[in-house]
Amino acid sequence: MFQEELLRWYKQNARKLVFRQKKEAYSIWVSEIMAQQTRIEAMLPYFERFIERYPNLKSLAQAEDDDLVKIWQGLGYYNRVRNMKRCAIQCVEQFQGQFPKTKKELCKLPGIGEYTAGAIASIAFDEKVSAVDGNVIRVFSRFYHITDDVSQMSTKKKITELVDASLTEPISDYNQALMELGALVCIPKNPRCTACPIQKECQSYAYGDADSLPVLAKKKPRRVENPTFYIWVCQDKIHLKKRSQKGLLAGLFGFDETLPEAVEEKRSLEPYTHIFSHVEWHMKGIVCFVKEKSEDFYSLSQIHDKVSIPSAFQPFLKQTEKIIKEREKCQKSL
Ligand code: SF4
Repeated sequence: MFQEELLRWYKQNARKLVFRQKKEAYSIWVSEIMAQQTRIEAMLPYFERFIERYPNLKSLAQAEDDDLVKIWQGLGYYNRVRNMKRCAIQCVEQFQGQFPKTKKELCKLPGIGEYTAGAIASIAFDEKVSAVDGNVIRVFSRFYHITDDVSQMSTKKKITELVDASLTEPISDYNQALMELGALVCIPKNPRCTACPIQKECQSYAYGDADSLPVLAKKKPRRVENPTFYIWVCQDKIHLKKRSQKGLLAGLFGFDETLPEAVEEKRSLEPYTHIFSHVEWHMKGIVCFVKEKSEDFYSLSQIHDKVSIPSAFQPFLKQTEKIIKEREKCQKSL
């Protein structure tokens, strides 16, 4: 049975991940949401900062939105952290500040899908349920040599049924072992089959075509947009405005998309391309020095310490900062 080999391998090879060792629902949840957008090693500093600031659901439920977004800066997909707050509020209101203990109940919370619910329920509460993420889909599609397109719901369903049928106790270790195998051995390119504990029963290994699985239909090309941003600057302060509550980077701080009225001087910035999941922004940036300062101008130190600027705008912010400093230097030397 491959499960025994897998569990044995897991005991000897699992990474000692701080959030998994505790078997505690809150840490598992935070780590799983973060891991949806970045590699585990890269997310660890974010995780530690987040847990220090918001150690439990109660503190998260009371978080200031701007603080929350600031602490999430660099991870992108800000809707996820907003949903986390909504989820925390719901847990405080309905479950005395705790997570419900079953996958079924967890799935009803904002921002928690089947996978995250399965991970929390099985790892923290030992419920015998599956947690099928991209890693597990890859392992199973290779192990059972499934050549259907895994982006199709029907294929995902078929794989989930196979995972469900394979569930073994201790469930917490088994699910984590599958995730870990996908992360460390059965990796997307050049799987390390010679080091794989379940190689003997793996059908793709026998066929010799593991590298060609899983089959994933080509995605539609991203839509290209060409926005121009006008960075209004008054002395050493930059104008920022909250973006609309709808569309990309909704509700976050950004630069203006209109020219200010009285421009003293204009400077073009190096263009920058930012890639979102379905859209590419081929961005132009123009720094506009203005005399009149209205509200919503922020100093560079305020921006660094208190305001969260989405990564799409960071290159323009850096270039603007450089221009402001050079200009100050020039003016002093006059
Ligand atoms: Fe993946 Fe290779 Fe192991 Fe099969 S033998 S599960 S393809 S790493």
